[in-house]
Amino acid sequence: GGRVAVREVFFHYPGAPQDALKGISFEADPGQLVALVGPSGAGKTTISYLIPRLYDVTGGSVRIDGADVRDVRQSSLAAAIGFVTQESYLFHDSILANIQYGRPGASRADVEQAAREAYIHDRIMEFPDGYDTIVGERGYRLSGGEKQRLAIARVLLHDPRILILDEATSALDTASEREVQKALDSLMGSRTTIAIAHRLSTIVNADVINVIDGGRVVESGTHRSLLRDG
Ligand code: ADP
Ligand code: ADP
Repeated sequence: GGRVAVREVFFHYPGAPQDALKGISFEADPGQLVALVGPSGAGKTTISYLIPRLYDVTGGSVRIDGADVRDVRQSSLAAAIGFVTQESYLFHDSILANIQYGRPGASRADVEQAAREAYIHDRIMEFPDGYDTIVGERGYRLSGGEKQRLAIARVLLHDPRILILDEATSALDTASEREVQKALDSLMGSRTTIAIAHRLSTIVNADVINVIDGGRVVESGTHRSLLRDG
């Protein structure tokens, strides 16, 4: 499972002068990588919030495997959807606790396995306290790329069916972007992935690219077909 269908969705932020989303529609099938690109303010982040129902649509519907998200228990939605954003929040706690976040019962072996898949395990083992290292303490600061790989390990531990990547590599330099992209590739696997990007170069492999502007999809196609049409 993991089919996402966004149908004619409208959304209005309380007090805003106009609708942020004006009838946006798109779909993502299980295993597909679907990209949302478009200028700042187009509505990309807003739609990513409506899929896990952080807000409710003001018109239209969001469906997951055919069910309107308004009819799905919040805990099921949270379990189904994993998020990686531009800045991933880490807590002032151990690396273990940061990866276990939301799954406190997960075993240390599972945490280490997730860290291995996210290509961060070796780095963690360089710290004298390994997984017990307190994030941010005693000068053990993590680079932006390392923080993103920790966030990816956290998502892997949840094993969600649907993945939302909101400019997950935008804040990184080219070298760490490559490392994080490798970790993202292992995370995406057979999951339904919706990736928000401002650079087309990061999403050449997308099955479908939806160009968003003014709160709706203005064009869609593959990387190749969009470049051909200019
Ligand atoms: P994008 O992710 O494509 O840059 P957003 O989804 O962040 O676009 O924003 C879509 C529109 O909604 C913009 O006009 C933006 O100013 C507005 N907006 C975003 N967040 C809020 C908010 N919390 N309150 C009011 N308006 C908002
Ligand atoms: P500041 O660095 O000014 O203390 P931040 O907002 O950057 O404030 O960070 C708040 C806390 O988040 C830090 O005290 C630390 O625990 C953690 N933190 C922030 N950035 C990093 C980082 N790069 N690596 C590890 N921990 C960090």
